[in-house]
Amino acid sequence: MSGARAVLRLKAGRERSLRRLHPWVFSGAIESSEGSPGAGDTVEVRSAEGEFLAWAAYSPSSQIRARVWSFDEADVPGAELFARRVDAALARRREIAQDASNAMRLVHAESDELPGLIADRYDDTLVVQLLSAGCEKWRDTLLGILRERSGCARVYERSDTEARELEGLRASSGLVFGSASSAPLRIAERGLVYEVDVPGGQKTGFYLDQRDNRARVGELAVDREVLDCFCYTGGFSLSALAGGARSVLSIDSSAQALARARGNLALNSVSAARAEWLEADVFQALRRLKREGRQFDLIVLDPPKFAATSKDAPRAARGYKDINLNALKILRPGGLLATFSCSGGVSLELFQKIVAGAAADAGTPLVLRERYRSAPDHPVRIEFPEGEYLKGLLLERN
Ligand code: SAH
Repeated sequence: MSGARAVLRLKAGRERSLRRLHPWVFSGAIESSEGSPGAGDTVEVRSAEGEFLAWAAYSPSSQIRARVWSFDEADVPGAELFARRVDAALARRREIAQDASNAMRLVHAESDELPGLIADRYDDTLVVQLLSAGCEKWRDTLLGILRERSGCARVYERSDTEARELEGLRASSGLVFGSASSAPLRIAERGLVYEVDVPGGQKTGFYLDQRDNRARVGELAVDREVLDCFCYTGGFSLSALAGGARSVLSIDSSAQALARARGNLALNSVSAARAEWLEADVFQALRRLKREGRQFDLIVLDPPKFAATSKDAPRAARGYKDINLNALKILRPGGLLATFSCSGGVSLELFQKIVAGAAADAGTPLVLRERYRSAPDHPVRIEFPEGEYLKGLLLERN
């Protein structure tokens, strides 16, 4: 920040969400801005009455016009505050069993009070996403702190997401610290080995949020014929095979993801004879499996995000309804459906309603056996429910 202090003054009454420690200031809440802040600059957010509310990062091209760095006037954004936040995030992870995996999300953006900052550790490689104008502004400071505090040998940036476009930022990815490793990057998760493609994989390379749910599906898979829809690099498929599934059919539309899934299977002492891989669109494949008379005892539906915000919820609802309905049509009586949504714009309540609608249409009564959420290295703050994007249901067909 240079020159005069920049101030965002809110409209009367629009300070309420900030008083509840929600970290976003929407454009519609702002009465005026003073000091002509630029993208990522630190602004003071003040109420209509002029009271200090928060320090935030200004984002001129986003509907989320400012993201809060701190609610305390004494906590001025800068290296010292960010280092404290990263340390707190790391301390939170120390409580999580380390032996489960050598891969972990170390920083989970707003939920760790660092809006727009994601950092995933895969063995000795840290993969970082800078997804907000504020993070971009402080990129060198943040990358330096993360490198030092994580102790990782290399830091790779994967800031090439849609979220960054909404912030008016260009995609940016590549190695930012250390030298590229000559060996493929491997992680171990609950006894299973996966290779992670950091430069070419989806997101930061792996879906760490499903770690515990993959393990649970592995336990449930014993002696079952399993269908893993949207399998990516084989997370649920390998867990099910290792857990004693009779067979696993895995479907994904990405040939690259399937190639890696096959490779991952070969890395583990699991019989490949019980695995079948299919490159297809799940929406069509479920219909085809029905026509072919195939049936399964355990179906996993882990689709990509259908709705980032509630604006897209109706379209997302149609998508969820379709795959859940068509999955239920090929689920044997007594079979289990593990169905997930990672759409921030679809609440758990709505998701459960959609699945109930699918069950009614399919004529299959369902018992809700378990509910799932993201693994604990993806913490959720009670004041920021948007952080609880992943929800899952385990349903048993009567
Ligand atoms: N279950 C996985 C993560 C799934 S990510 C794990 O545990 O690692 C979602 C996956 O859905 C991606 O691999 C993507 O390639 C795939 N995908 C997206 N749209 C699809 C479609 N219409 N049909 C099949 N696969 C799709």
